[in-house]
Amino acid sequence: MSGLLKDSYNRQIRDLRVSLTDRCNFRCFYCLPHGEPPVAPKEQMLSYEEIEYVSEIFVSLGIEKIRLTGGEPMMRRDIETVIRKLSALKPRLHDLALTTNGYFLPDRAEELKEAGLDRITISLDSLKRDVFKRMTGIDVLDRVLEGIEAAKRAGLKPIKINAVIVRGHNECEVADFARFAREHDVWMRFIEFMPLDSGHEWSREMVVSGREIRERIEERFSLVPLKVPRGSETSSRYRFADNAPGEIGIIAPVTEPFCGACSRIRLTADGQIRTCLFSTVEHSLRDVVRSGATRAEVVEFIESVVEKKEPRHYINDPEFRQPARTMSFIGG
Ligand code: SAM
Ligand code: SF4
Repeated sequence: MSGLLKDSYNRQIRDLRVSLTDRCNFRCFYCLPHGEPPVAPKEQMLSYEEIEYVSEIFVSLGIEKIRLTGGEPMMRRDIETVIRKLSALKPRLHDLALTTNGYFLPDRAEELKEAGLDRITISLDSLKRDVFKRMTGIDVLDRVLEGIEAAKRAGLKPIKINAVIVRGHNECEVADFARFAREHDVWMRFIEFMPLDSGHEWSREMVVSGREIRERIEERFSLVPLKVPRGSETSSRYRFADNAPGEIGIIAPVTEPFCGACSRIRLTADGQIRTCLFSTVEHSLRDVVRSGATRAEVVEFIESVVEKKEPRHYINDPEFRQPARTMSFIGG
């Protein structure tokens, strides 16, 4: 066993995203507008035991952070079980996090915390009921806001809020979100719209750049860049100049790519390793594990896949093509 996972560009891989399901109860227009059928039949999905087995190997290879995602990860039955299993990998695993649309949180935030979850990211694209409904396909803004409060009460700190900013939908709310961060002491993460929607409607005109997002915030609140090592961090982070609570982060993969510092790989719900969100090839860890490979063979496979990690994404190249799998099927 060779120790740390490094790709052929000398980037150390520290961060694993594990998709628990490709199903979702929302229909966000920038992700899964038409609710395509799940790609993974049940028998092809990794079981919780398999996720635990490969996660332990990833951690032994230097993965420090695991984020559970999907689809909507809380739609998979009894996710507290897998959280408990992965939590046992601490302290070698530094950070166990979850990204969710927040729908199930009002009743279950406490259980997640008790199972060992460290941190949570909740998606929230609008503070206006009609816009929220238009963007997510479901009329549940109040329930998600309740979910955020429940996560806070459960002690899942810091709470991050993801908002995908899309021209013509919610760009006018950017400063309102900044106020929300201050008032609720949460970390806002503004994300540029990426070409990963299953409706294939992404266009450059719909992208609100990170720069514009920052300008919109600064019309109302002054920001100070945070002096934190960027490391595997994908966002440019800011505090409020008046020291109000909360934090702002801007994630601009389209207009300010950060591929050179990428430390991520992904595992889909059906056990495929993806070395980039925009990969056009996948590597079946599931087949290797189910073939009865020894631990050393699994390690060798993971190392050989990481070696193939792409140098960068090609969104801005004229010949760019969307990957066949879109966001909810990859695990965002
Ligand atoms: N269902 C969960 C949720 O919505 O938080 C977890 C999975 S979702 C794919 C993870 C994150 O990806 C969400 O914050 C979502 O807003 C973001 N996302 C989805 N499609 C996107 C796109 N086309 N561009 C940028 N972000 C996107
Ligand atoms: Fe579902 Fe999350 Fe995609 Fe929205 S962003 S459709 S909640 S997976």
